[in-house]
Amino acid sequence: MPTTLSERLSRELEGLRESGLLISPKVLETPNRAHTRIDGRDVLNLASNNYLGFADHPALKERAEAYLREWGAGAGAVRGIAGTLRIHEDFEQQLAEFKHTGSALVLHSGFTTNQGVLGALLQPDDLVISDELNHASIIDGLRLTKATKKIFKHADIADLERVLQENDSDGLKLVVTDGVFSMDGDIAPLDKIVEVARRYGAVTYVDDAHGSGVLGADGRGTVHHFGFEHADDVIQVGTLSKAWGGVGGYAAGHADLRQLLINRARPYLFSTAQPPAVVGALSAALEEVQRDPSLMERLWDNTRYFKAGIEALGFDHMGSQTPITPVVFGEAPAAFEASRRLLERGIFATGIGFPTVPLGKARIRNIVTAEHTRDDLDRALEAYSAVGKELGVI
Ligand SMILES: *Cc1c(COP(=O)(O)O)cnc(C)c1O
Repeated sequence: MPTTLSERLSRELEGLRESGLLISPKVLETPNRAHTRIDGRDVLNLASNNYLGFADHPALKERAEAYLREWGAGAGAVRGIAGTLRIHEDFEQQLAEFKHTGSALVLHSGFTTNQGVLGALLQPDDLVISDELNHASIIDGLRLTKATKKIFKHADIADLERVLQENDSDGLKLVVTDGVFSMDGDIAPLDKIVEVARRYGAVTYVDDAHGSGVLGADGRGTVHHFGFEHADDVIQVGTLSKAWGGVGGYAAGHADLRQLLINRARPYLFSTAQPPAVVGALSAALEEVQRDPSLMERLWDNTRYFKAGIEALGFDHMGSQTPITPVVFGEAPAAFEASRRLLERGIFATGIGFPTVPLGKARIRNIVTAEHTRDDLDRALEAYSAVGKELGVI
């Protein structure tokens, strides 16, 4: 007798419940801003990826509304058939200029971008070398390819070099890394990665989801943070869904990359184009970050202030270098309990445990944004001090 759907669902859910991994997301009752409302209570939001406050920014909403009125609610088709509107191409041009790359293509999300680009680019005799902590969408993207896959230890240049020495290929060699790692907030040593990759004739592929709008002048990303300009042997992918405040993903790099993706990337070919309002919001975001330098300044002032405060309280933030600020509580139940107690004190920040992060390193992951005030951060630090003491972590 085959398994019934009811059996499958109840058994899986029961398993998740027993292991404490069942997710039931908090519902925000106002837009995603530094202050929001959950269960009818006002809370300070340290859980979003809304680095620059663009998710509910007036300039983005205004442009989204204008594009909606002029270009409609939907794109009407996949890009390759009849869904490419003038605004899609204009935005891609704007993005390529912003990132100083030879071309840029926009897809539906950062997640589908990794699937689309890795799937389109890689062939069976290629070699891919991937950082062990790379994002799930990279792992899934690589599963779509028949290329040989190897892993190097997280941000470990010597180990990367070892893998490059031990493996060779006459096909394309691709070193894949996140630009900023989403759980620890550390920055990939991209300058060294590119240097080693080049010595072995490999191309570097950097997923800059948490570096876009955060690192480099005007948020141009990790490549710019390290002070090197676009090169043909570096592919930058990233998201338009985090700091840029909308939803989407991009691949930017070699002048011919875009043309290949248009022909081969399956999300481009088989999934409908972004709606005009989203394109409008994103185009305004790229302008706004350059028009108003105080956004990046506030993001980084707040980041330094909050990190110093967390450190002074005696917590471990894992040496994070970016606005992503983990606060380690040990095992998962402690992190989840801390998150619950913080919420009671009006601070919204999510607990993350094994298997997303290693055993013993369960944490609360905070993301500081440009919208937070000093008062907000002081309130958060006070709550951390109290909860850390209650749970015996500091
Ligand atoms: C968040 C994230 C993505 C997914 O981006 P979306 O636009 O939300 O789909 C991809 N890669 C990395 C490294 C991320 O952190």
